[in-house]
Amino acid sequence: MNLKDKWSGFITNKGKYSKYDPDYSKAYLLNISLIVMSLAFFVYGIINLVATVTPVIPILNFILMIATIATLIYFHATNNLNICTILSVILLTVFLSSFIYIVGNNFYGLFWFATYPPYVYFLLGRKRGHIATFLYSATIFVYILISSRQWEPALFSVHSFLNIFGTIICLALMVMYYEKSKEYAYESLMMKNKELEVISVTDRLTGLYNRYMIDEVLYQSLKKSKDCEKPFSIIIADIDFFKTINDNFGHLVGDKVLVEIADIFKSAISGTDIVGRWGGEEFMIICPEKNIIEANKLAVYIKDKIAKKDFGIVGKITMSFGAAACSKGETIDSLIRKADNSLFKAKKQGRNKINSYQI
Ligand code: GH3
Ligand code: MG
Ligand code: MG
Repeated sequence: MNLKDKWSGFITNKGKYSKYDPDYSKAYLLNISLIVMSLAFFVYGIINLVATVTPVIPILNFILMIATIATLIYFHATNNLNICTILSVILLTVFLSSFIYIVGNNFYGLFWFATYPPYVYFLLGRKRGHIATFLYSATIFVYILISSRQWEPALFSVHSFLNIFGTIICLALMVMYYEKSKEYAYESLMMKNKELEVISVTDRLTGLYNRYMIDEVLYQSLKKSKDCEKPFSIIIADIDFFKTINDNFGHLVGDKVLVEIADIFKSAISGTDIVGRWGGEEFMIICPEKNIIEANKLAVYIKDKIAKKDFGIVGKITMSFGAAACSKGETIDSLIRKADNSLFKAKKQGRNKINSYQI
């Protein structure tokens, strides 16, 4: 496992929050912010240990660092995003409060408050984000109201520049991240849409097109044939004595036969031809560019392939076919009726037969 895989394993909680999971962006931001916060607490702790006389501040920094690391470990152990986002907001609140309390208006430290609303809105959502932002803004407002009387005008120094610039960088990173997460959300929506599109036109058992799609293709093909000026044919195929297969071997074996037959149909068709499950044990092939002779040839090919195949315990199976070609003034209903009549005749002629209308 290389470093990149390790990192992506960490950031997604070992794949629990994968790229197209709705909570992926939140989990990602939470992991990153907990790491950044623990590092920040550590660095501040060291700086304050060296620079300040009172040990209270570095101790607070190290306690916050331990609490942040504990939250990170807890998040990875439980994957509890809800609790951990709340804990991270509490940590940020304590950190910002202590920072603002210590720094006051010196070096423009108050600027860091600007990072609070985007962070909480993103991690806690709109409702909790409203509450946290309102409560915290009100607290800061009251604090400024009380303390500002003792404040000296803030000097613009290197520290001030770092505070302002640091805040801007954090805000820019967050906005960038929001944009990215929006992109992910859009991509995952598109993917889901595509999946749904496929599901909506697919027969679950056989993987062929379903009746809905067949109706759609029939409609489009008839339109394209320009009142049957161009060749356009259909074939309806029905398994012979399929009920007996179900009765003798059970419904599951019957299902398996349907899948195997569907596979033969899939491998037999090519070009613009389309095959779908028309109903129970009936299939339809739409041939938008074939005349009746070509359609008949295709039916012969499939009929022979099925008749030759050994279907395991079921043994041999045959199918009957009814083909029909489109003629002037044709409607979808009349074309299907013609193919159905042909199929009926094929059954009457003794099954394992093909009957073509207009041949
Ligand atoms: P024929 O040669 O006249 O077509 O006889 P048949 O027994 O095939 O025709 P019939 O219409 O009497 O029976 C069709 C059977 O197909 C009845 C139904 O239970 C079965 N069937 C329909 N859909 C499915 C399915 O999805 N799975 C299984 N296993 N059987 C199905
Ligand atoms: Mg039938
Ligand atoms: Mg049948």
